[in-house]
Amino acid sequence: MRNLYIDFDGVILDTINTTYKMLAELGIDHKDEEKTKEFYASLDWKKVLEETPIINDGINCIHKILESNKFNVAILTHVNSLDEAVQKVKYIRKYLEDITVIPVPKAISKTKMVRSKDAILIDDYSGNLREWESEGGIGVRFSLKLNGKGFRVIDKLDQILDMDYETVK
Ligand SMILES: [Mg+2]
Repeated sequence: MRNLYIDFDGVILDTINTTYKMLAELGIDHKDEEKTKEFYASLDWKKVLEETPIINDGINCIHKILESNKFNVAILTHVNSLDEAVQKVKYIRKYLEDITVIPVPKAISKTKMVRSKDAILIDDYSGNLREWESEGGIGVRFSLKLNGKGFRVIDKLDQILDMDYETVK
């Protein structure tokens, strides 16, 4: 079975929108790295996760992917603080009892936490996908606008079940 890693922010939950709105309310430009880093490090993630909608039926799609037995599925998510890791694991456990969750410290590449060779990563951030493919993995961009930025692209997680990778690599 092929390993399939699924990003969390911007793929399962629309936390990017929630946190960008909060940044705007605080008058912080998200391009200001220092202030943005501080903001994310001190964020109340429990509250953020409670307030943020699921993207395109993502949780049900993951159930469907698990039931297909086509992949070893894990959630691979960057975190800025321990609280973020704790709250994300708690959140995911409410919906998915039997899935591996791997929090990755923001300063470390996802490719350094798991073996990317021949594994699939679904991520909305093309920088992560570029790193993933440079380490021999298969990148799939999640984009509601279906903008692949050079990668295979999906806008709903269960579309991964209809993709044919063997012919691609
Ligand atoms: Mg993301």
